[in-house]
Amino acid sequence: MSGYTVAIVGRPNVGKSTFFNRMLEHRKAIVDDVSGVTRDRQYGMTDWNGKQFNVIDTGGFVSGSEDVFEREIAKQVKIAIDEANAVVFMVDVTTGITHLDEAMAELLRRATKPVYLVVNKVDNGQRELEAAEFYSMGFDHNFFISSISGSGTGELLDMITSAIAPEETEEVRREDGLPKFAIIGQPNVGKSSLLNALIGQERTIVSDIAGTTRDTIHTHYKLFQKDFILIDTAGIRKKNKEKDDLEFYSVIRAIRAMDEADVCLLLLDAAKGITGQDVSIFSLAARKGKGVVVLVNKWDLIEKETNTARDYEKNLKMKLAPFTDVPVLFVSVKDKTRIFKAIETALEVFDNKQRKIPTSQLNEVMLKAVQAYHAPVVRGNTVKIKYVTQLPTHVPSFAFFTNYPDDIKQPYKNYLENQLRTQFNFKGVPVRIFFRKK
Ligand code: GDP
Ligand code: GDP
Repeated sequence: MSGYTVAIVGRPNVGKSTFFNRMLEHRKAIVDDVSGVTRDRQYGMTDWNGKQFNVIDTGGFVSGSEDVFEREIAKQVKIAIDEANAVVFMVDVTTGITHLDEAMAELLRRATKPVYLVVNKVDNGQRELEAAEFYSMGFDHNFFISSISGSGTGELLDMITSAIAPEETEEVRREDGLPKFAIIGQPNVGKSSLLNALIGQERTIVSDIAGTTRDTIHTHYKLFQKDFILIDTAGIRKKNKEKDDLEFYSVIRAIRAMDEADVCLLLLDAAKGITGQDVSIFSLAARKGKGVVVLVNKWDLIEKETNTARDYEKNLKMKLAPFTDVPVLFVSVKDKTRIFKAIETALEVFDNKQRKIPTSQLNEVMLKAVQAYHAPVVRGNTVKIKYVTQLPTHVPSFAFFTNYPDDIKQPYKNYLENQLRTQFNFKGVPVRIFFRKK
C-alpha cells in the first residue's frame, strides 16, 4: 500500500472538496468529516495508473476575522508541507488571484516538495484564457481543471502519480520480515503511555524545534522471544498544543503509521467510547488490508459490574460492523493491565494475516460449506461453486470459481467469509473474496 500522501490546500470555496470527491468517486473511499473550528476535513485513498495514494483535503475555516483566518490557513499550509509528500494548491479562476492566494503561495514557494498549482473552475475556453493570469504566481507545475466536469484532472493525476516511486506503492517495507505494529488513536487516549510502558523507560521526546525530523519512529522490540517493530507517531503531540492542529496531525500520522504497519493497535479511551473518526480510521485500516486489534484503554476508570466488558464489546462491535471479527481488549496502561496481552494478540493477528491455507484443505472445507448452503438460484440459473483457491497476496484473498460469478450477491459472500473465518481463524484480518468464471 502506498504511504504517499497528497494534501489539497486552498482558501475556502475554490473547490477543494468538489475535487476531492471527484478523485475518490467510485472508489469506495473512506471519507471522514471532522467537524470543529474548521469545516469538514476529509481524507481517503485513491489510485490512478495503478498507483495508490492518500488524499487529504485540509478543509477551510468558516469564520473568524480576516487575520485570524489568514493565520489559521497559514498553519494548515505548513502542516500540509510538513506532512504530505506533495501539495495540490488550488485557486479559483472566477475570482482571480486574491490576497489570501498570495499569502499561501508565499509559503508554498519555499516548499521543497512538489507543489501543483491547480486553477479550478476552468469550465470553458473563455476561462482557459483567464486562467493564464495564474502563471504569474511562478509555480513550475500549472494545471487548469474543472472539478465539476473533470476536465484536466487526468493530466494532473498523471503528474501526481508519476512522482510516486514504484516501491512506494508496493509493500517494500517488509525486507526484514519483522511484524510491524502501529499504535494509533486520537490525542490523549494513551499512545505514548503505552509505548513507554512497553519499552519500560521514558523515551526521548521529539524536540519542539520546527524542521526536526517528522518521520515516524520505529522501535525494534523483543517480547515473548518474538521480535517486532513498533511504529510511533506520538511524539508529534508535543509540537503543537492547539486542539485543531492535534486533530489534523493525529489523522495524518495515523494514516502514515497505518501504511507502514502490518497490524494497527487502535487505542480508544474507555470513558469516551468510539467516535466517528475512530470508526473511519478503523475502516480505512481494513480497506488497506491491515490487521487490527482494538484496545479500550483507561479501563481502570470504568465502574464495572458483571457484564460491563461484554456489553461494552457488543456495543463497540455494532459500530465496527460489518468487520467485527476483531479482537477487543480492555486494558489499562496506567495499571499495566493486559498490555502484554495486547502485543501477544497483535502477534496472533499478524500470524493470521500471513496464513496460507493449502488448496486441498481449503476445497475440502469450503465445498462442504457450499453443500450445506447453496447460493440462491438467480433467474432460473443454478449457481455452482466448483473450486476455491487462495491468491498469493498480502491480504488473505480467495477466488471462488463459479459458473455465474455475477449472480452471487452480498449475503452469500458474507456467508462464505464467515465460513472462512470460523474454519481458519482470520481474527483481526480483513479477508477479500472474489468470484471468477469457470
Ligand atoms: P472548498 O471550500 O474549497 O472545498 O470548495 P467546494 O468544493 O465546497 O466548492 C465551492 C463551490 O464551487 C461549490 O459551489 C462548487 O459547486 C463550486 N465548484 C467547485 N468546482 C467547480 C468547477 O470546476 N466549476 C464550477 N463552475 N464550480 C465549481
Ligand atoms: P497520547 O496523546 O495518545 O499519546 O496519550 P498519553 O499517553 O499522553 O496519555 C494521555 C493521558 O491519559 C495522560 O495523562 C496519561 O497519564 C493518561 N492515561 C494513559 N493511559 C491511562 C490509563 O490506562 N488509565 C488512566 N486512568 N489514565 C491513562
